[in-house]
Amino acid sequence: MTVRPVSHPVITHKINMLRDIGTKPKDFRQIVTEVTSLLTYEATRDLTLEKTIINEWQGGQMEVEMFLEEDPSIVPIFRAGIGMQEGFLSIIPNAKISYIGYYRDEETLRPKQYYAKLAENVQNRRNYVLDPMLATGGTTSAVCSLLKKAGVKSIKVLCILAAPEGLAKMERDHPDVEIIPAVIDECLNEKGYIMPGLGDAGDRLFGTR
Ligand code: URA
Repeated sequence: MTVRPVSHPVITHKINMLRDIGTKPKDFRQIVTEVTSLLTYEATRDLTLEKTIINEWQGGQMEVEMFLEEDPSIVPIFRAGIGMQEGFLSIIPNAKISYIGYYRDEETLRPKQYYAKLAENVQNRRNYVLDPMLATGGTTSAVCSLLKKAGVKSIKVLCILAAPEGLAKMERDHPDVEIIPAVIDECLNEKGYIMPGLGDAGDRLFGTR
């Protein structure tokens, strides 16, 4: 599995603003959007350019290289993944959006799907899973399995923070999936929070606590 943390001082600065509990939801959302744009720039480096003809400004034609394949699909995982949507779309505005929702089954402690609406032709698109906190990796792994069952071959995961435990699970379950975290943190605590982390990303984004 490839893990490609985006090492950049601007990202480090912005992540540390997210860690600051004084950062209010409005600014938190804005910073998550900015960091996601930077992650998207990295994650889409390998898009394939193809030759095509355009009509240029002097009336002639010109051969240029453009991105012609099916628009990619982003897969924001409810709830916190929604916070990364705008950042991705600021770079690739025509991306389709495949929403997926999971909750934790309190009996089995396993992620249970409650919603999935995938983009048309999802199997022919590049798919970018948006999950701000790759903690245990349980939900992210389940989402990748669901996408593969739908025939998807190309999956990358963009996250704001990743824990080594979540990366290890993804390595075991989906060694073919590339992970692009802004920062890899130290560990999980006993409640499954990323340490030092930033708390509950959904609550911080949406002001629910
Ligand atoms: N989900 C969060 O929102 N935060 C964590 O630290 C771990 C999982």
